[in-house]
Amino acid sequence: MTAPGWYFKPNSEHRQPEVYGGEAFIDKYGCVYLGSSEEKVIYLTFDAGYENGNVEKTLDVLKRQEVPGTFFILPNLVKSNTALVKRMHEEGHLVGNHSYSHKNMSNMPFEAFEKEITDLEALYAEYTGYTMSKLFRPPEGAFTEQTLQNCARLGLTPVFWSFAYADWDNNKQPDPQAAKEKILSNVHNGMVMLLHPTSATNAAILEDVIVTLKNEGYRFGRVDELCVPQTTAAELDYYKEKGMVFSENPNGGKVVALTFDDGPHPEQTPKVLDVLEKYGAKGTFFVIGKNIAGNEAVVRRILDDGHEIGNHTYTHPLRSGSSDALLEEAAKTTELLESTFDYSPVLFRPPGGNISGSMIESICASGYKCVLWSWRMDTRDWASPPVESVVQTVLRDVKFGDIILFHDNVYGTSPTAEALEIILPELIERGYSFVTVSELIAG
Ligand SMILES: [Zn+2]
Ligand SMILES: [Zn+2]
Repeated sequence: MTAPGWYFKPNSEHRQPEVYGGEAFIDKYGCVYLGSSEEKVIYLTFDAGYENGNVEKTLDVLKRQEVPGTFFILPNLVKSNTALVKRMHEEGHLVGNHSYSHKNMSNMPFEAFEKEITDLEALYAEYTGYTMSKLFRPPEGAFTEQTLQNCARLGLTPVFWSFAYADWDNNKQPDPQAAKEKILSNVHNGMVMLLHPTSATNAAILEDVIVTLKNEGYRFGRVDELCVPQTTAAELDYYKEKGMVFSENPNGGKVVALTFDDGPHPEQTPKVLDVLEKYGAKGTFFVIGKNIAGNEAVVRRILDDGHEIGNHTYTHPLRSGSSDALLEEAAKTTELLESTFDYSPVLFRPPGGNISGSMIESICASGYKCVLWSWRMDTRDWASPPVESVVQTVLRDVKFGDIILFHDNVYGTSPTAEALEIILPELIERGYSFVTVSELIAG
């Protein structure tokens, strides 16, 4: 199976390009490839496999211009040019993972994939004393949905681009003037540029390009700005204290809340419902609004079986950008549930659990309770791990009052229903019963 590598469709109107055919799963995995369409901001990224004198020149330019970049490196650079790599980190750049052996990893099994990543992380730590960022650029830009799942399991953010050009062949370097024109004619808001820092042409024109763009009002950002919105542990504690965010209820009695995100799904949701029914367990289903069309009977059964439904946005954006955008997402799903099922959800769970303090404030001001999960109880079943791994995550660490995170819409083979068949009787044996989230947090 060959999947197309990452690509973008350039245009000459300075609009943000369409990338990878607009495939929706790209955003589901939190890939970074474009910044805000509203802001004149540019992100420089460099794939740095070795040094030929031009990587140092590139760093000199970035330092003079006080512009941050992200360098995706390979082992050779760490070993042969340790001082240069340390300098990247020390001068405020991000150092990301470009794999250990620079092979096409699009169909690589998880264990081999993990080794490619962790071997480079270990080497980097050993040589530099620093910790490598969790940013990853797939070699050759080659990937499949499986690759992105592997990244998710390892906590890696895949970083692609919205502009690149033929700058990598040292024997066929582009003409500097033509290269400069090409870059400037493709500039767009939120541009993520892929450059090769070994390119003599890039080394010659980079400073000129940066100065020109600064004069046009562009700012240079670091790609970690584009990673998903987050709250600090202290912020979360504050909102939990105020009864706005819930992730467990240790005083709720001998109960747990089973939660299922991302459905409804025509096959996976009924399988989960069958197991819950068999053991007399109640659960909470955080549905994605756009998945409801065609699956109305599934939603109807969730309600008829006595489970709770929560709002998980309409399109599952991992980066909503603003509180208003997130509210709009929530409102669309609530309206659909009200008009079709006469049901008003009171619980809201942000996609990926990614939410900022101001988003929590607006969601709660609209009457929702924001529900996360017990941090030990993230089964990561959506990454399609073996059944045993889901079972172990729950049975090893579960405590009374936990909110357990599952998914009833998983790409590929879902381990969830099978895992529940093992988990539920064992927890019943241990004296647990299963309640909805609203019951758990009221208890
Ligand atoms: Zn490469
Ligand atoms: Zn989700």
